[in-house]
Amino acid sequence: MLWGVLFFGGIYFGFGGIFWLLTKRVLPALGIGRALDPRPLQPGQLRREIGQSSISVLIFGLGMVFPWGLLQLGWARLDADAGGWQIAIEVLMLAVWNDVHFWINHRLLHTRLLRRFHGPHHRSFVTTPWSTYSFHPLEALMLGNVILLPMVVHDFSFWALAAVPVFSLFFNCVGHSNYDFFRRVSYNHWFAASRRHHLHHAVHNGNYGFQFTFMDRLFRTRIAADAAEPLFQAFRDKQLQRQQQQPQPEQHGATA
Ligand SMILES: [Zn+2]
Ligand SMILES: [Zn+2]
Repeated sequence: MLWGVLFFGGIYFGFGGIFWLLTKRVLPALGIGRALDPRPLQPGQLRREIGQSSISVLIFGLGMVFPWGLLQLGWARLDADAGGWQIAIEVLMLAVWNDVHFWINHRLLHTRLLRRFHGPHHRSFVTTPWSTYSFHPLEALMLGNVILLPMVVHDFSFWALAAVPVFSLFFNCVGHSNYDFFRRVSYNHWFAASRRHHLHHAVHNGNYGFQFTFMDRLFRTRIAADAAEPLFQAFRDKQLQRQQQQPQPEQHGATA
């Protein structure tokens, strides 16, 4: 469990730091991509996100007792002889399952019954790479159990199972980076996941999927690509108004 806490803490702070640097410094300096939501972060947002995420890291780490327990009870087994191809196919299967599992749990978290437990995550209207694990503990428990069912129905290799939190957090950082990395791809493209999840945080009702779009297409829960435009326009108008209302600097030297 201690290894679990160190592992989840390591990937959270590692990926978070890399994406923060990439989207705030490196990519803007290179002129690649663009920021999505123009509004500023709330006061104390980063501290809150990192604090909440640290509790999720603890929950995920301690939660390692569940897959370990399945192995001890003999309800699941690891395939120690899996080759490279088998591991690759297993990772692919787990990536698709991860999207199904995420959509179902996320949709449940948007029901009247569970909405209040999803509130802490949605306190971030404008997302950051530190929002990724910023959940209520119940949400952490719901999302953290993603590998348990697959483990019972198939003997996965250790490496395929260990890959799940890594690729999941990588795509989570993409989704919460508030940054459009590939401006030329369409809104439905796999590479436009950050556009879709940033919209989910801006307008809430839709885009419950993770990296892929098949679940939102299947259940018709997609948000229109321009759904947040009125919101952003209102923000820009207010900013312009504020600038115009600011007193003009006095002109010196006009009088002799
Ligand atoms: Zn949500
Ligand atoms: Zn989110």
